[in-house]
Amino acid sequence: MRAFYQRLFPFRYLFQWLNHSASPSNDFAHREFAFTLPNDAYLRYQSFVSADLLRKQCMQLIPSRFEIGPVYSTNPRDRKTLRKASMFRPISKELVFDVDMTDYDSIRTCCQGASICGRCWSFITMAIKVVDAALREDFGFKHVLWVYSGRRGAHAWVCDRRARDMDDGKRRAVAGYLEVLRGGDKGGKKVNVKRPLHPHLDRSLRLLRDHFQADILLDQDPWRADDRFAALLALLPDAELAAALRKKWESAPERPSASKWADIDVLAAQGAGSAALDGKALKEAKQDIILEYTYPRLDAEVSKKLNHLLKSPFCVHPGTGRVCVPIDVRKVEEFDPLAVPTVTDLLGEIDAWDGSHSSEEDDAENAKKLQDWEKTSLKPYVELFRAFVSGLLKDERVVKREREEGGESMEF
Ligand code: ZN
Repeated sequence: MRAFYQRLFPFRYLFQWLNHSASPSNDFAHREFAFTLPNDAYLRYQSFVSADLLRKQCMQLIPSRFEIGPVYSTNPRDRKTLRKASMFRPISKELVFDVDMTDYDSIRTCCQGASICGRCWSFITMAIKVVDAALREDFGFKHVLWVYSGRRGAHAWVCDRRARDMDDGKRRAVAGYLEVLRGGDKGGKKVNVKRPLHPHLDRSLRLLRDHFQADILLDQDPWRADDRFAALLALLPDAELAAALRKKWESAPERPSASKWADIDVLAAQGAGSAALDGKALKEAKQDIILEYTYPRLDAEVSKKLNHLLKSPFCVHPGTGRVCVPIDVRKVEEFDPLAVPTVTDLLGEIDAWDGSHSSEEDDAENAKKLQDWEKTSLKPYVELFRAFVSGLLKDERVVKREREEGGESMEF
């Protein structure tokens, strides 16, 4: 891990990302970092003036991970020396979101607990698509960074100044806007939404419909087992239709979910439902079921508080050894969590690169200029992060100039 911090962790870009400028400022210096040490001790309220000092501390303490908290009104290290405790308060932080496979255990059939595979990762892909679209199209945010959490989930960091300046009330409002499934693991219907559908839900359904067909009905096949189709029947709006379906499915053991899903409309068309059942109610119930099985399950608590800490991008997950790399949202379908490099892979790649280049004198000059991460499969991820940070800094310069000129056009 020391070699990882020394040779691979992109501290310079992390600094620029959090500092919103290349020259040092309080955006970075007053930012809280929290370290988890190898002996599991947890060190809060750490702060650093520069990327280099953060790097030195990481090389000295070799944290198994570190988290990023808010920018405070004063330096977090000085908080105990202040005359009044109220002088120390959080003033800004990225708006963050956390989606984790734990919240999908009741509907995924391929894996349980800590394990993941390509099939259940599609739940995270769906969540990223829906949340990213809402953040950009409904809230107008531009700088949304998605990061693999290292095992079975993803984090979003919304870095626009307008998002960073939000108080807890506004954060709760955004989290509430995105929350559609209610009731946790208690069972019962989790989706209860008004009609006509809110444009966000209408768009979400459009984004999710194909995933429902491929990833849920075919891959997860959640109602195939004879002890599982009751969950589907419980979500239908008509008891007579449900009874007719039950009869059909009991006489056709292990009937695939895609067939069962199609049976609903077929039997309804044959008049198996009660006289009261209308096509609209059935259509809406089916939309609700699609949402229940595909709509993002966010850990809302993470988003609601300005002072919530979240694991830094590019940390290493201690369980998997994988680096928490950024996910290119434009190619989110292609992201494969099981192909993300581990620290051991990366250090091996540096050695292999050095080994194959040291003897060739022509390359010696070029080799000196290369950063170690450029010799490894971490390269595309660092470049993605660098491009993201550069886009953010460009907009920050515009905002700063407008503020200096007295313009308020970028204000909330
Ligand atoms: Zn799986």
